[in-house]
Amino acid sequence: MFQMALRVYSCPYWIFHLKNRIQQMATKYPERPMAPAFVRYFCMIFGLANIVAVIAFSACKDMFMLIGGILGGSVLFAFGWYGGLPLVETVVGWHPPANSAAVDEMHRQGLKVMRRRKWMAWLAIPGALAATALLMPLLMQGTQPELVLLIVGVPIAFVNCRYYLSRCPRCGFGFFTKSVSRAALIRQRNTCGHCGLPLNADKKQ
Ligand SMILES: [Zn+2]
Repeated sequence: MFQMALRVYSCPYWIFHLKNRIQQMATKYPERPMAPAFVRYFCMIFGLANIVAVIAFSACKDMFMLIGGILGGSVLFAFGWYGGLPLVETVVGWHPPANSAAVDEMHRQGLKVMRRRKWMAWLAIPGALAATALLMPLLMQGTQPELVLLIVGVPIAFVNCRYYLSRCPRCGFGFFTKSVSRAALIRQRNTCGHCGLPLNADKKQ
């Protein structure tokens, strides 16, 4: 009886998430071509070789080398498999703009999300320094204080990737890229490299 009541109570929650998920799956972003095949195969082979080598030679004694090597190799392999870098959504239910210069409510919401991610990326720096100061005395007691680089570096890389891999809420391509390729270079910029949408376009209106 209790379980049934719980199921009924939590139903709208699941419906809400299911609706969001279906909406996300139905969203058709512009196609992005993969990196050339030889680059992809090189990354996949080199990534796998890196993982195998680090497992074989570190012999689980050097945790920094082992975890760092597996992480680095996996990222390289995934880059080759996907043919570049994935992009992170900024709005749910994205659709192409009515005209190339339009700034509507969906774009404004997306820009707010992007600025929040930018703040997170900046705040990660003092956060990392504080975490290093707290963790170093503990890690110095062990044999591998360099592990702090992984403990602090991975979250920093994660929040920076979320910002720099954001999709433009207007054109749907990478905001910080100029090329439409999945392996496009990422550059710090305040306007979308494709449609020219400024990062603070919603504030100007
Ligand atoms: Zn754009």
